[in-house]
Amino acid sequence: MTKILVIEDEEGIGSALEYQLAREGYDVTWVQDGAKGLETFETGGADLVVLDLMLPSMSGEDVCRSIRKTSPVPVIMLTAKGDEVDRVVGLELGADDYVTKPFSTRELMARVKAVLRRGRSPLESTDVLEGGDIRLDTDRVEVTVRGEPVHLTRKEFDVLELLMRNAGRVLPRETLMDQVWGTDYFGDTRTLDVHIKRLRAKCEVDPRRPAHLLTVRGLGYKFAP
Ligand code: CA
Repeated sequence: MTKILVIEDEEGIGSALEYQLAREGYDVTWVQDGAKGLETFETGGADLVVLDLMLPSMSGEDVCRSIRKTSPVPVIMLTAKGDEVDRVVGLELGADDYVTKPFSTRELMARVKAVLRRGRSPLESTDVLEGGDIRLDTDRVEVTVRGEPVHLTRKEFDVLELLMRNAGRVLPRETLMDQVWGTDYFGDTRTLDVHIKRLRAKCEVDPRRPAHLLTVRGLGYKFAP
């Protein structure tokens, strides 16, 4: 059952979302406070997080940043009209989508379904990932490109796996760095760019015009199948 965590302090919106999402067959947890929401995510996990921007005890912005340090889980931000944090900032935080209040539950349901379709949950593990002519076997730690085995270093493999697991979604540089090198890594962030460059050289037909390992300027990287 798909688990959705709703972090929203407004009773009316929170209870309506809880009711509607449960009716659609999702396993919903509704929390009304930022810090508690983050704690709930860290202990119980979720396949999708619906996150309000203005929350008591910890802002939605900080909750989103904290979640992104450990997880690429899809996040939909709820923003209010006139929020000083505009739509783009919401996406820069690593959110996958946003809905501006007031919104109809029908509109939010559509976004929830679209985001879930687009991004595979990191909790759901598949042994073999395929995208275009690239095939990655997580059990055997093997990669083949156009049927030919390719030798990758462990870190290159981890970067590629994370991108392929989240095919079609932009992964912020910070998320990739944290997931592959760990939150205590203080090295140069260009390390990531070097790994992407090497992956392109090994996996792309034309590394200068990548078809799969795409740079999303100012945000991060994305795997296009
Ligand atoms: Ca609020």
